[in-house]
Amino acid sequence: MGQSGRRAGKWSNKRMDSVAELRERLQEFAAARDWEQYHTPKNLAMALGGEAGELIAELQWLSDAEADAGLAEGPLKERLADEAADVMLYLVRFTDMCGIDLVQAANAKIQRNETRFPSRTDMRAEGEASMASSDPDGKKELDVDGGEDRE
Ligand SMILES: [Mg+2]
Repeated sequence: MGQSGRRAGKWSNKRMDSVAELRERLQEFAAARDWEQYHTPKNLAMALGGEAGELIAELQWLSDAEADAGLAEGPLKERLADEAADVMLYLVRFTDMCGIDLVQAANAKIQRNETRFPSRTDMRAEGEASMASSDPDGKKELDVDGGEDRE
């Protein structure tokens, strides 16, 4: 085992596929360096914002076509992956230090957004149900385009 492998310990050569594993690895990383004292919610939120800024800076001033070309060539994708990783690691550490279950919170948020912003399929089904209740004989035309202001 090489020097870097020894440093990585049990995490070497292991692909981290869960937020829980990343959280545990970050806990060990911080504890081994006595960095827990710096990992306050405020400091971590600021670090997270800084890393999000670094991610944005990679794309700043690029047209969509230039960004697509940069992603296809590789180096831009590597830099974006690096900054996205920073954002994710700080987000995982931030939520851990705040006692927030990140996966639970994200799922709850998606569920709220699904209710707030119904899919076209849901809106169609709702329209059909409404039409069926107000027009049991099916004589009214169903507006599937959502053009409620048209006559
Ligand atoms: Mg960074």
